[in-house]
Amino acid sequence: MCIFCKIASGEMNTNKILEDESFLAFHDVNPKAPVHILVIPKTHIEKFDDTPPEVMAQMTTFIKKVANLIGVDKSGYRLITNNGEDAGQEVAHLHFHILGGTKLSWQHLQDTNSKEFI
Ligand code: 5GP
Ligand code: ZN
Repeated sequence: MCIFCKIASGEMNTNKILEDESFLAFHDVNPKAPVHILVIPKTHIEKFDDTPPEVMAQMTTFIKKVANLIGVDKSGYRLITNNGEDAGQEVAHLHFHILGGTKLSWQHLQDTNSKEFI
């Protein structure tokens, strides 16, 4: 069972924010912004590419509820999903990062020199 499946099943403890029968939101263990929340489906889907559109539609509604609950819906937030190896996906269970609570720059998440790609 993957680490996020363990969190979803309750086998592993986490700091939960909101859940329903299909999705769970919890605080990232290593926050990269004042608000850093992860949203996952409770069933194992590896990544965005493998996600059925109807699940994505439900997840969108759930993510908006989380943003409203945590109070970043008005101030704005960044939504990220790392899809696969080149994106740096570390946990192979679909998750969206909700980042906010401050003005985020692009450099905020940059760990390589962009000139290397030109
Ligand atoms: P990825 O790089 O796959 O998009 O992001 C994985 C995220 O999961 C990272 O931000 C990392 O800090 C977070 N993470 C990894 N293991 C755990 C855990 O056991 N609990 C929580 N709450 N977050 C985790
Ligand atoms: Zn899983």
